[in-house]
Amino acid sequence: MTSQPPHGADLHLHTIFSDGAYTPEDLVAAAHRNRLATIGLTDHDTLDGFERTSRAAEELSLEAIPGVEFSCPSQGDREEAHIVGLFLDPGHDELQDTLKQFRENRRRRAIRMVEELNRMGVALHADDVLKLAGVGNISRLHVAHAIVNAGHVPSIEAAFRRYIRKGAPAYVPRDRPSADWTIALIHRAGGVAVLAHPGLTKRDEDIPRLVSYGLDALEVYCPDHDSNMEQHYLDIAAQHRLLVSAGSDCHGHNKKRSHLGSIRLDRNHVEALRERASGQ
Ligand code: AMP
Ligand code: MN
Ligand code: MN
Ligand code: MN
Repeated sequence: MTSQPPHGADLHLHTIFSDGAYTPEDLVAAAHRNRLATIGLTDHDTLDGFERTSRAAEELSLEAIPGVEFSCPSQGDREEAHIVGLFLDPGHDELQDTLKQFRENRRRRAIRMVEELNRMGVALHADDVLKLAGVGNISRLHVAHAIVNAGHVPSIEAAFRRYIRKGAPAYVPRDRPSADWTIALIHRAGGVAVLAHPGLTKRDEDIPRLVSYGLDALEVYCPDHDSNMEQHYLDIAAQHRLLVSAGSDCHGHNKKRSHLGSIRLDRNHVEALRERASGQ
């Protein structure tokens, strides 16, 4: 097998600092094995994994870009929009204060979900969930794991279906900032705002509104898009003068659909994103 030099970027990746299975060191090692030149760390609502990621990346001569995946409410009862901020300044005070607030909100919400579950007769301790989240931001995935571990349901899917999916009895919604506020925060923190996996959320009609808020790019290449959808979002990007991003949305073995190495963004697109960020 010929060994190619590292090339291309994967700009949508998760670790144990949110709902991924990889530690930052595992993620960097996997990216290195897959011959990626650049990775974007985009854990949900946190930059806490960046220091470790950056250190591990440096040792293997990979570039690591600091990012965060934000969830913003959509109008009506539709899917939330996921907006990835890339090239964020990890030392930006307002950004870090906001992320700290998100972390605390997530913790309180998990405790409320456990209380709802207890009321339904599902015996569980909030500490079990907090322990499972470890260094990471608490998500419903951790609540689901705790429900399974306590023997109440056979699978994560069943835990969501029966208890904590949107509309299920122990579901507690999360306070989320609006898309215009989120995009402005990303810009204030020196970053670019990318609409993640638009083909998954299927809200094309929202794109002009997001563009008016300052959206910079679309995640054109991701595992949720076939080649027709890639072309569709390339056309929309050209129409609105948006830049192009790409990411596998890898969560390690926590999710089946994402594969590190399956998505590789050309360097010219990475440089266009970097240049846009440097103008913020
Ligand atoms: P949260 O951000 O706390 O609302 O939780 C979102 C997490 O739960 C993400 O990791 C999702 O992928 C995961 N999730 C949401 N719905 C399901 C489901 N039906 N089955 C498995 N995981 C899910
Ligand atoms: Mn996730
Ligand atoms: Mn997402
Ligand atoms: Mn993601």
